[in-house]
Amino acid sequence: MSVVKPLKKLVSCVILDLDGTLINTDGIVTDILKVFLVNYGKQWDGREAHKIVGKTPVEAAAMVVEDYDIPVTKEEFLSQITPMFSERWSNIKALPGANRLINHFKSHGVLMALASNSPKSNIETKISYHKGWKDSFSAIVGGDEVTAGKPNPEIFLEAAKRLGVHPFSCLVIEDSLPGVTAGKAAEMEVVAVPSLPKQSHLCSSADEVINSLLDLHPEKWGLPAFQDWVEGTLPIDTWHIGGPVTRGFGRGSKVLGIPTANLSTEGYSDVLSEHPSGVYFGWAALSTRGIYKMVMSIGWNPYFNNTEKTIEPWLLHEFTEDFYGEELHLVIVGYIRPEANFPSLESLIAKIHEDRRIAEKALELPIYSKHKGDPYLYNL
Ligand SMILES: [Mg+2]
Repeated sequence: MSVVKPLKKLVSCVILDLDGTLINTDGIVTDILKVFLVNYGKQWDGREAHKIVGKTPVEAAAMVVEDYDIPVTKEEFLSQITPMFSERWSNIKALPGANRLINHFKSHGVLMALASNSPKSNIETKISYHKGWKDSFSAIVGGDEVTAGKPNPEIFLEAAKRLGVHPFSCLVIEDSLPGVTAGKAAEMEVVAVPSLPKQSHLCSSADEVINSLLDLHPEKWGLPAFQDWVEGTLPIDTWHIGGPVTRGFGRGSKVLGIPTANLSTEGYSDVLSEHPSGVYFGWAALSTRGIYKMVMSIGWNPYFNNTEKTIEPWLLHEFTEDFYGEELHLVIVGYIRPEANFPSLESLIAKIHEDRRIAEKALELPIYSKHKGDPYLYNL
């Protein structure tokens, strides 16, 4: 007898968190705390990041004040640090896939609300820097408009009320544990998209955990599917990265039989932190050799203590010699899949070869082949 999985509940509306879900707030929090704590002779070591994500500003302030033993009240701390954040709001980037998601639901008439633990005026200021966002949300609920912030469900229930829908009709998209907890307490369907690396286990109560907004499949929830996937690939805004080819850890050719041309991430950690881990593809240029198709992974490397990502491009060409030190430029044009765990080395190798086939074929499509003319590939 086959086991029939229960169908996921179908929804008609989406309630989105803001910080860490649609915009890349975490980097700014770290930048500011690093600078701020120096004033008190303390050094930010990142240990708070997991604790404060998704918390209300007052809760986050209380934790930092206590853990770093700062001789001010949480209220004083907040009043000192808030202006430093306000200055940066105009520069918080949308996370990959955020604009795509908002435009998609808006164009299909799917009602959307924003529900954030931040005060409403802060939310409105932050989204004002993102074209078209404010008009896309039929309701915006701030932490100062409810008696208790997430993980209390009140903020999501209020959002559903303002949308004029039953909580059962809502899909919540959240990056943090307090947000996931609040969404489930509100009896809503919840997709977790953790903003901090290796936090998937924290979101086990979510109905689904995805790696980034690029991996959201709205049709699973009865919402209109994205139509922009092409032959197993998702076109993305192109981005560039380059430098001399370095020796990697030897895993590529020795363990997998797949020779990757590793790039040093030195000087590129900001660029890489903007892009979700996963498998991408595009075009690669070597200074003395030419231009090649390329498939690559971006991922977390234990050697770098979870704070640095590595990038491992595989140039799809049979080279007869190594080219360490040679200048390599990459233009990344599309996305294939998130990073995944595999039960065996064989299954990992099989998947990488499947990625290769998908990339090789896709790069023949005009939408991707046109980027072979990108000036970055000729500027070596
Ligand atoms: Mg958040």
